[in-house]
Amino acid sequence: MSALRPETVSVHTGNEADPATGAVAPPIHLATTFRHGPAGERVAGYEYQREGNPTNDRLREALAALEGGAEAATFASGMAAMTTLLECLPNGARVLIPDDCYTGLRMLCAEYLPERGIEAVMVDMGDLDAVRAACAQPTAMVWIETPSNPRMKISDIAALARIGHAAGAVVVADNTFATPLLQRPLALGADVVMHSTTKYFGGHSDVLGGALVFAEQGALSAKVAHRLHITGATLAPFSAWLILRGCRSLGARMAMHCANARAVAAFLAEQPQVERVNYPGLASHPGHAVAARQMRDFGGMLSIEVHGGREAALALASKVRIFTLATSLGGCESLIEHRASVEGPNPRSPQNLLRMSVGLEHVDDLIEDLRQALA
Ligand code: PLP
Repeated sequence: MSALRPETVSVHTGNEADPATGAVAPPIHLATTFRHGPAGERVAGYEYQREGNPTNDRLREALAALEGGAEAATFASGMAAMTTLLECLPNGARVLIPDDCYTGLRMLCAEYLPERGIEAVMVDMGDLDAVRAACAQPTAMVWIETPSNPRMKISDIAALARIGHAAGAVVVADNTFATPLLQRPLALGADVVMHSTTKYFGGHSDVLGGALVFAEQGALSAKVAHRLHITGATLAPFSAWLILRGCRSLGARMAMHCANARAVAAFLAEQPQVERVNYPGLASHPGHAVAARQMRDFGGMLSIEVHGGREAALALASKVRIFTLATSLGGCESLIEHRASVEGPNPRSPQNLLRMSVGLEHVDDLIEDLRQALA
């Protein structure tokens, strides 16, 4: 049989029937501690929930299979995953991060990494010459986020992996926006994939989680696993179970998110009030060719920049009826937000930018909603 396709993997891997009962839905193991022998001998491989538990292990297996990795670690949030990985860098290390990226990464790099002498340098990851030049100095890690949050910039994962590896750097890709259903960074050369599983994996805006998937089992994955065990940013079993449940419908949901976002982007691109639509599926997007090469489809996220600045953006946001004004992404419901307003004290997003997570409603209703809000 040929290798199973991602949609099939997402339904089955980690979701095998419970061997003890035959239950088709996996059990949730809430135990914090596991019986052991007189000298601490493990009975079934487990000791204490913070170190590992069966529900988390099912999710780890699913994530590793979906990303094509050797091993996965799960965390209490995407930020916990990111922090644990960055904490594994030696003091004084230098990392490259995208000039457009999730604001939490930017704040982590600005507020906490300097305490350990770690320098984060912002680079336009779409400009390979700029990345090559930045890699001329010692570089421990190259952090990729494509499509990026919130401007949907595209970077060439394979090219960046080659440049990063030539400099001896670990190459990490935040694959939250795309999910492995649309993009597989490890197959393109990245060493580690990071996820906020809060988003498309969870899929229903009701669970917080994060993950790292490693191309290889080795010193870095072992360091991360040990650090997670000791520092304790463990994913709760109930959360692991919800994310595992989300995996089962991930393929179907991503297909509809992509179809809806494509139609919404096409509609918005024709509206005179809209100065720019940032959606990599549009042929006019500067990263379209790279995205078409490295993604199966273009995802459910987009942002727009409107004529009339902040006031026009806020006016539009205040008129939508089906889109909900809220941060986050990847749930069934469509969300819209004025990014600059939620990015903390030093926002980088343009004041006229609105980010949208296009949900699973009927696309005609979404377009009608935007049409009336723009009117
Ligand atoms: N990475 C991206 C691209 C995100 O959008 C987010 C959250 O919005 C995160 C990471 C952080 O994840 P979490 O909110 O689960 O900590």
